[in-house]
Amino acid sequence: MRTSAIHHAVKIVCLFLLCPLVSVVPTAANSGDGEFQLLKLDGYKVKWGDTELGTGAVVSYAFAHAPQHFNDARNCRELVPMDDLAQRSGISQAALRKETAAAFRVWEDAANITFVPAENPDQADILIGAQGRPVGRAFANVVYKTGSSNGVKVIDQALVCLNPEQPWKVGFDGNTDVYDIRYTLIHEIGHAIGLDHPGPSGQVMSFKYTERYQDLQAGDLRGVELLYGVSIRRLAAGDGPQ
Ligand SMILES: [Zn+2]
Repeated sequence: MRTSAIHHAVKIVCLFLLCPLVSVVPTAANSGDGEFQLLKLDGYKVKWGDTELGTGAVVSYAFAHAPQHFNDARNCRELVPMDDLAQRSGISQAALRKETAAAFRVWEDAANITFVPAENPDQADILIGAQGRPVGRAFANVVYKTGSSNGVKVIDQALVCLNPEQPWKVGFDGNTDVYDIRYTLIHEIGHAIGLDHPGPSGQVMSFKYTERYQDLQAGDLRGVELLYGVSIRRLAAGDGPQ
């Protein structure tokens, strides 16, 4: 586990529909179809890699393999393995891993950010688990390193936690009372890489759960491009930055 000494500050972000900690007023420049909001912690933008906007990063991830306590975390303070959550919702471990990998791939396909399984889960950049103290639906917790440049800080670690007492599903079925685990993870990973809510709806990073679209929307793409640059795949497809 990482020491907390370098955890200079902690804050977090949300879950769908219950995001009292984050107030976002989209600016005129961010309004419309291309709406996005960069996560700001203590006034700083945050990203993985280095502080220069538009530069890529390699980020490791793992599932919590044992209960872990994060004293300084505002969300996800108690993180436990996902087994119980998956079992309660009738989701196999294989399906859970497949959905999680797919969620990371969505961001990887869009921007110059690469996710790799952590060799040592205790050293994972992004740690995913179920909440030891269930609340809400899903949260992310983002911690940044000391130092900054041009108002940007580098993320040190992010936690993503889901409520094991809520029902979860794989795939959309029109019932928005039960959240699709992949869509939820895409949204929370968005927080874990530096994006906030642009508003209630219209983007994957919007704070209302929806089953109207499964892919990143124009604003999600603009936001993640601004942070990491466009992915090689999208550049090759001629789908460059606007
Ligand atoms: Zn959120």
